[in-house]
Amino acid sequence: MSSNFDKSIKFNNNKPIVICIDDEVTVLDSLKIELKKALGDKYIIETAEGGEDALELMQDLITEGCQVALVLSDYIMPDIKGDEVLQRIHKMSPDTLKIMLTGQANLDAVGDAIKYSRLYRYVPKPWQSEDLKLTVVEALHSYLQDQKVIQQRKQLEIMNQKLQELTRNQAKIIAEQTAELKEINAELKAANTKLKEANEELEQLAILDPLLPIANRRRFDEYLKQEWARMCRERRYLSLILADVDYFKQYNDKYGHQAGDRCLIAIAKTIQKSLRRPADLVCRYGGEELVIVLPNTNPDGAIKVAETIQEEIALLKIPHFRSKISDYVTISMGLASMIPIKGVSPSMLINVADKSLYQAKNNGRNCFLLEVI
Ligand code: GH3
Ligand code: MG
Ligand code: MG
Repeated sequence: MSSNFDKSIKFNNNKPIVICIDDEVTVLDSLKIELKKALGDKYIIETAEGGEDALELMQDLITEGCQVALVLSDYIMPDIKGDEVLQRIHKMSPDTLKIMLTGQANLDAVGDAIKYSRLYRYVPKPWQSEDLKLTVVEALHSYLQDQKVIQQRKQLEIMNQKLQELTRNQAKIIAEQTAELKEINAELKAANTKLKEANEELEQLAILDPLLPIANRRRFDEYLKQEWARMCRERRYLSLILADVDYFKQYNDKYGHQAGDRCLIAIAKTIQKSLRRPADLVCRYGGEELVIVLPNTNPDGAIKVAETIQEEIALLKIPHFRSKISDYVTISMGLASMIPIKGVSPSMLINVADKSLYQAKNNGRNCFLLEVI
């Protein structure tokens, strides 16, 4: 394809060629003069004195990359007849236009030439000067038009190929970038999930007690304030239980501090398990004291929760050799219940629960006492 295209460029730079074939030199000479007159010096006019000569010349010109625009051939020649010469030239150079010069008697040969070598026209011999001139000029005009179309088509084909290549490259780049973006997106998503998890962990750490598997004092302060306000709005009871391990100092002294820690963990878990409502919350109040917030819970409800906790702790049966009231670990609880009052601090409920706890301790421990405000 590209070699054809190069030839077209060469054709543009070199003049196209017209070949006249006739076995009579005088005919050739007059043909040459007529054509020179008609075409000026826009074309090179070559002559061949017979079929063999013409085919040889044609082969040379093609080898050199020249463009043979038109061949005018006599029909009756001693070596090869005109129709066969044109047929062979057609095989060598299909784009070359062919005209046959022939007398009326040989019209059958014209038919063959039209069929096998795509004869452009035939000119009767002897020719009319004007007729020959018009035929040749028209033929060459048509040849040049065809060449232009062929060239443009080739250029279009090249552009089309380049465009296809560009489109392919573009598609490849887009596919690569899409894959890269997908990867980045997945990484970002994973990083986001990790960040979210880390944040959640941090949030949990901020409200969890470092030793016991329950909320810390900070969370208690927040939650009490929040539920105090909510119960105040809804005019419902808010109850609080302060729980303190009995004779815990002696427990530590007897079993060691680490055993004391394990005991506290077991108690925290047991209290947690005893709470039924999602809004109930147990927190570490400080030391071995735990506090339970019971929103929307009246005094009877608070007593039920305290009883359940006491029973569950008893079921733990943690030996406490140094306790003065039981063989096992027990707790005392101070309960306080009230419908919160606007403008009053929630610490009021803590103070009352603390007083109840003090009373429970005084009453002999392993019991609870409730004060309704
Ligand atoms: P009671 O409450 O029955 O009057 O007697 P108690 O011995 O429990 O007295 P108090 O409440 O004054 O003692 C609290 C003890 O609890 C002090 C400390 O040794 C122990 N304690 C507080 N926090 C922890 C803790 O986190 N781990 C352990 N192992 N012991 C703790
Ligand atoms: Mg205490
Ligand atoms: Mg105690």
